Amino acid sequence: MDLQSFIRHIEKLDKRYLWHPFTQMKEWAEGTPVIITEGRGSFLKDISGKWYIDGVSSIWVTVHGHRKKELDDAIKGQLDKISHSTLLGLTHPPAAILAEKLVKLVRKSLPPPLGNTPLTLSPLERGAGVCNRGEFNSALRTPHSGLSRVFYSDNGSTAVEIGLKMAFQYWKHKGVKSKKTFLSLSNAYHGDTIGAVSVGGIELFHSIFSPLLFKSYKAPSPYCYRCELGKTHPSCKLHCLREMEGIMKKHHKEIAALIIEPIVQGAGGMIVSPPGFLKGARRLCTKYNILMIADEVATGFGRTGKMFACSHEDVSPDILCLAKGITGGYLPLAATIAAGDIYNAFLGEYEDFKTFFHGHTYTGNQLACAAALANLELFRKEKTLERMQRKVEFLKQALDGIRAFSHVGDVRQKGFMVGIELVKNENTKEPYPLEEKTGWKVCSRAREKGLLIRPLGNVVVLMPPLSVSLQELKSLVRITAEAVREVTE
Ligand code: PMP
Repeated sequence: MDLQSFIRHIEKLDKRYLWHPFTQMKEWAEGTPVIITEGRGSFLKDISGKWYIDGVSSIWVTVHGHRKKELDDAIKGQLDKISHSTLLGLTHPPAAILAEKLVKLVRKSLPPPLGNTPLTLSPLERGAGVCNRGEFNSALRTPHSGLSRVFYSDNGSTAVEIGLKMAFQYWKHKGVKSKKTFLSLSNAYHGDTIGAVSVGGIELFHSIFSPLLFKSYKAPSPYCYRCELGKTHPSCKLHCLREMEGIMKKHHKEIAALIIEPIVQGAGGMIVSPPGFLKGARRLCTKYNILMIADEVATGFGRTGKMFACSHEDVSPDILCLAKGITGGYLPLAATIAAGDIYNAFLGEYEDFKTFFHGHTYTGNQLACAAALANLELFRKEKTLERMQRKVEFLKQALDGIRAFSHVGDVRQKGFMVGIELVKNENTKEPYPLEEKTGWKVCSRAREKGLLIRPLGNVVVLMPPLSVSLQELKSLVRITAEAVREVTE
């Protein structure tokens, strides 16, 4: 078959048999798909030989670039031994070695947890009164020794489901029956499974499933550009935290955990929280005896310029969810890391049935764990985080040009997570109606120019691999700027 016939063949098969995620398939059927056949460094090549910058790291996963020799070799080496064996009733070296490395990495990156050590209350917290801990005294958490147990799965949604179920069951084991629900934020995105959607807060994605979802409370999103409380930062003094506290104060007996995307709400529009918000949320969790689940599926492994986003505010969650970049963007793997006292609450005799009854078939897959080990080794060997800082600064300055465009309302950046919010009217912040697909048009113009990016509604997302070069970053920003200008002006 010649190349042109092969391209037509693949396109035909795709359109005849595939159903793509987050895609209106009617529209897809009318378009011409980009068929990716190769990757190298920060680039992807399509079947016709055209190269594109991978501007969103293949949906936020690629860390050291495509075809990274060390990662390729680690997987090939593992292939020569075994690809998969289960963690149900068996173990294997890559899973055990990786678990130790993850726990050590987390402990190195995050401060000792607050547990229930006495708190010095901030002025914000002082004004709000202290919750009545009386009836929870027996179940109050003792200071725990930090995140220490790794439960594997294979994607971000499952990492989150596991975190939610762990938190729920933990309280049952502690004899607190009333803690049956969760607190999350508006604009939150934690994945697409029903538990993850239940704590999600994106109308467009989640509202249709509302009859299927369990109840959860919603605290305001720290979305300063469009503050849902009508406040302005910093004069608001983090009023959103006060609202969060109001919910906790009223409902702490019901709330098992707060689940939060630390520092950046990703799919909600790359919403960067104001300084102090995450730390404040952590303190409130401790004060009201609510577990904190940090969903670092998107922010973990260097995305925000530090290994974990929680490190920006010296916060230690009780449960940490990791996925995406954990294998350097090579294979599906996730880890939910729990604090020691949470793990301990599940210990008992067989007949106590305190077991965590949860597990996925490919949990802790050997190839994926081998890739994750090589990924961590690359961070160390290549000083990925240190080398990234100059590029983050460069990106910040390069984005200034885009900030000045008349239809750019806000440019948000934390490390290599960037959201460019397009607006119809800069002064009134009037958004483009979603049906106008302005974000999509910008991305499709960028594609013609050799850059692959995907929008979140009116927010154009940039998320290059951490290994991107300054030259590549320059091209990424130049093409984005051209595309935004051509579509919006
Ligand atoms: N949590 C967050 C913060 C995410 O950004 C995502 C995916 N974008 C998920 C969970 C779900 O991960 P997955 O798509 O691997 O299920």
